Amino acid sequence: MRLDLIIRNGSLVDEHGERAVDIGVADGRIAQLTITGGLTVTGEPEIVDAAGLWILPGFVDTHVHCRAPDHPEREDFASGTAAAAAAGITTILEMPIAAIGVAHPDILNARRELAERDTHVDFGLYAAPGSLDPKLIHALAEAGACAFKIFTLSVPTDRGRSFEGISIINEDDIYRALSIVAETGLICAVHAENDALLRLGREQARAQHLTGADAFIAAHPQAAEAMAVAWMVVLAEATQARVHIVHMTSAWALDFLRLAKRRGVPISAETCPHYLLFDETTAREHGCWAKIAPPLRPASDRAALWAALVDGTLDILASDHAPFLPHEKEAEDILATPSGLPNLEAFPPLMLSEAHAGRLAISHMISLLTARPARLYGLYPQKGAVQPGSDADLVLYDPKAQSTIDTSTWQSRSRGSARIFHGLHYQGRILRTIVRGKTVYQNGQVVGRAVGAYGAR
Ligand SMILES: [Zn+2]
Repeated sequence: MRLDLIIRNGSLVDEHGERAVDIGVADGRIAQLTITGGLTVTGEPEIVDAAGLWILPGFVDTHVHCRAPDHPEREDFASGTAAAAAAGITTILEMPIAAIGVAHPDILNARRELAERDTHVDFGLYAAPGSLDPKLIHALAEAGACAFKIFTLSVPTDRGRSFEGISIINEDDIYRALSIVAETGLICAVHAENDALLRLGREQARAQHLTGADAFIAAHPQAAEAMAVAWMVVLAEATQARVHIVHMTSAWALDFLRLAKRRGVPISAETCPHYLLFDETTAREHGCWAKIAPPLRPASDRAALWAALVDGTLDILASDHAPFLPHEKEAEDILATPSGLPNLEAFPPLMLSEAHAGRLAISHMISLLTARPARLYGLYPQKGAVQPGSDADLVLYDPKAQSTIDTSTWQSRSRGSARIFHGLHYQGRILRTIVRGKTVYQNGQVVGRAVGAYGAR
């Protein structure tokens, strides 16, 4: 077979550990994987010498918000996937919050067309099951939705249409939605905070005249998260839907997840880099700039999240890249500003650096960023693996480099809101990102045509 690309003398580091390899790529796939010096070379391939570098499977981020078509000024598919490419992320799964929530196949197809025009990495699109209409929900699955997503809370009234079909508050409606999603076999991702307790928390924050981080923390009590996760544990068992809890933050909620796993409930969960890197101290120091829902928690919760990654209670890591522009984040009343931060370009580099520092074994960390999310969402081994036949989604990584985050160089349009990450030092550097054999990022630049394709499922 004629090879298009050869990567020589590198160390493949994946969930199985580290080994010296040469890799041959043909037609966008891994064609040969041999010990160093073992390739059979035919054709005139591009040759990359990876001596001293690690070759990693491209990262799979299952929780990304791109904001197009309703708010492209915050992020569109081009800028969001450029940010992903710069971070070594070769597949994103994008959340169904659009001009109108993605509860109808026509909306899914329109977003797909929009994204296919200028996407630098491969992508899948979530859909929303809030219509509770079996025909529509099955049609969304048939149209290629990678998974479903719901919020168990109401959303700000000015964002109502964007969340149409996504926000499902009552337990009977959630039950109905999950029963139908279960028939599709797809994951249902859940933002789990109890609506009634959030409302109470907000009222109490106002009544006590709390401001800044204190107001936001009071408005999103840990009880709201624990309550919603407990509900989802029961509802996942009752409906046998594959429930996935996004952005878990607290030890309390983790205990319900442990109970569910002991009972054999089809449930999985993620946490996000900000909950592992920061705690309430950062929330208080940075106010609106650290406003993320659920909020940053006490240091004891942060420690519990790391422990849950080590013991397998948490299944994967995801970014929850949620871009908003600086003027939107900056407001006197913290409760009136949107929750969320852009963080794609911080996510894998900082997580790998935490592994270098000994928080988790390197192979375990890489698994949390690659093989595990790919398996969970049915993408493995096309994605998340470096083996013959897999897509040639690869990252060249210098494990020894010392780096500092400069958010002014980020690809994300909302980079100005990423203040909590600016200036952080970390070990390691992503040198090159390859999607199906094509280099999309190299030497600090996004390069080449936008080659990203739909169908990450
Ligand atoms: Zn999100």
